[in-house]
Amino acid sequence: MRLDIYLFGDELLRKRASDITDITPEIRRLAEDMLETMYYHEGLGLAAPQVGVPLRLTVMDIRRDGSGKIVLINPVIREIRGKQAMEEGCLSFPDIVASIERATELTVEFISLSGKRKENKMSGVAAQAIQHEIDHLDGVLLIDRMSVARRALLAGRLRRLRKRGAGGERR
Ligand code: ZN
Repeated sequence: MRLDIYLFGDELLRKRASDITDITPEIRRLAEDMLETMYYHEGLGLAAPQVGVPLRLTVMDIRRDGSGKIVLINPVIREIRGKQAMEEGCLSFPDIVASIERATELTVEFISLSGKRKENKMSGVAAQAIQHEIDHLDGVLLIDRMSVARRALLAGRLRRLRKRGAGGERR
């Protein structure tokens, strides 16, 4: 089932999400629905708070075709290396992109949907995407990472979007 995506301006996006202690059928269903929602909107990743669920769960597929599908529960970044500014968008910020500085390499520890503890090395777009998704779990959004200049340039659009999100509009 496709889920509604909460927009910037909605207070729920600012909450710190809680750890998942038990992988219940509801959690499995949520991951499945989040993947469906992510593919529908052609996103690279989606975090549970973006669909109104304040839990530490995120889904990603940087290939966007099912072959790079990954579900990460309680993800934690362990080692980071390098720094690079890359263009970034967010499903909660429709039609907005900004250049964001991110680590280029990292190791992420997480629990898989089958309950196994895993450790993945990521680089490039995958590293960028997981940093973006973990930001969501901490209530940190694209706007917080933008340069002052970019934020000023987008001020009107961001203001209109915040109003829509605060009014409970979803996509
Ligand atoms: Zn996002």
